[in-house]
Amino acid sequence: MSSSIQIAVVGSGYVGLVAAVCFAEMGHQVICVDNDERKVTALRAGETLIHEEFLPELLGRYRNERIRFMTDLAEATRESDAIFIAVGTPQSETGDADLSYVEAVACEIARSLNKYTVIVEKSTVPVYTNEWIRRAMERNGVPRNLFDVVSNPEFLREGTAVADFLHPDRIVVGADSERAAAILGKIYAPLTEGSYYKTSDAIPGMCNETAVPQLLFTSTKSAEIIKHASNAFLALKISFINAVSNLCEATDANVQQVAHGMGLDSRIGPKFLRPGIGYGGSCFPKDVAAFRSVADQLGVDFSLLTEVEKINANQKVRFVRKVRAALWTLRGKRLGVLGLAFKGETDDIRDSPAIELVEMLMAEGCSIVAFDPAAMERAAQVIPSGPQMTYAKDAYEAAADTDALLILTDWAEFKHLDLARLNSSMRYSILIDGRNMFDPAVMASHNFTYVSVGRPTSY
Ligand code: NAD
Repeated sequence: MSSSIQIAVVGSGYVGLVAAVCFAEMGHQVICVDNDERKVTALRAGETLIHEEFLPELLGRYRNERIRFMTDLAEATRESDAIFIAVGTPQSETGDADLSYVEAVACEIARSLNKYTVIVEKSTVPVYTNEWIRRAMERNGVPRNLFDVVSNPEFLREGTAVADFLHPDRIVVGADSERAAAILGKIYAPLTEGSYYKTSDAIPGMCNETAVPQLLFTSTKSAEIIKHASNAFLALKISFINAVSNLCEATDANVQQVAHGMGLDSRIGPKFLRPGIGYGGSCFPKDVAAFRSVADQLGVDFSLLTEVEKINANQKVRFVRKVRAALWTLRGKRLGVLGLAFKGETDDIRDSPAIELVEMLMAEGCSIVAFDPAAMERAAQVIPSGPQMTYAKDAYEAAADTDALLILTDWAEFKHLDLARLNSSMRYSILIDGRNMFDPAVMASHNFTYVSVGRPTSY
């Protein structure tokens, strides 16, 4: 394995923590910094705080060995050769990315830097952020020859974050200096030269993939745009198939067949052609808005992205209409809800379309009995239990005595529910599936009225 590098990762959230344990897994020494004392204490005790497959195993392997946790960024800065900034870049009121956390970290690093260090943008940031970080460093008195700023965007998906990090499609490094590019090349060498895949004491069940990822060097600005353009393109693909699904509903065609037929074209590909209740989560909505805002500020017409957002918002309105159409009226109806996270296999509810739909249905006078395998604790902070909201211990309890059952998150385990058992405890056998998780013919054989997205309803 290539030689070990001393790395600091600032921000121990979904990206920072995963990056930190994976860098340790790749053989590096890592300091994980967060300004949330509670988080650092929990991580030191071995609690991951987020639901992410393989994270507890890796944390267990390296905690107190290759990986340390602290709140002191100054100490971490002095000890490290590369500092990855992985703090949040949330959407501001104007749609822009709020870069105040990134700025605060850059200024704090500047105050402690005492030797050449590479500052790496891991957070998703708009083009030109690299230059702003450089300016912030210089304004805080750091000589230009003591640092470089590199863009290394992250493409992991929540739910499969560890496997994605260690088995990426590509690693993008935007660097305008050879010295910095070489350090990033060294950090990722265990993956890009393949030694990690040959020698790793792999975690059982993680991934058998041994293909070596491509390491792509670009300019810093190109790397920044690659990340925003990739997320905006994926969101566009989702909105496109959602619009197609609406057309299918209007014509009694079947979007599953349409998407399959489209996806067989190698220029299109089958992925991200699944219609539903719209994209959500902490990335797509804010990244599309930020990318659109960048284009606006630069005088570039990218109104296509406004349409992507419009279709996405409308998809939720259409779903509420579907529920109403199935039940006649909504006031006073008791609805079972399966799934609150923004997607399956995660506990993240940030910008979750499921949460938004629950709120919309509650505003219509429905009462909700919800179950999610991992996100209920977080959901209860946003929608507390009350007369209109109850949290169930499992899917069957959520379905019991309801007028209809709604599927709002594509948790894999929902596919294995005992349909006969679900049906037997419901007031009416109506299942409205926002994620197209079931085969309409199977649902019909279990006597469900089954409403899905872009496919004919089965009675
Ligand atoms: P997160 O909110 O889960 O984590 C951010 C962490 O940064 C928090 O723990 C917070 O306490 C910490 N923090 C904030 N200010 C700090 C400071 N001054 N010093 C130290 N720590 C500080 O966010 P996330 O989901 O991990 O996302 C981080 C970035 O990565 C964002 O830009 C996001 O767009 C991008 N990204 C996210 C994903 C994803 O799936 N979540 C994927 C790719 C890229």
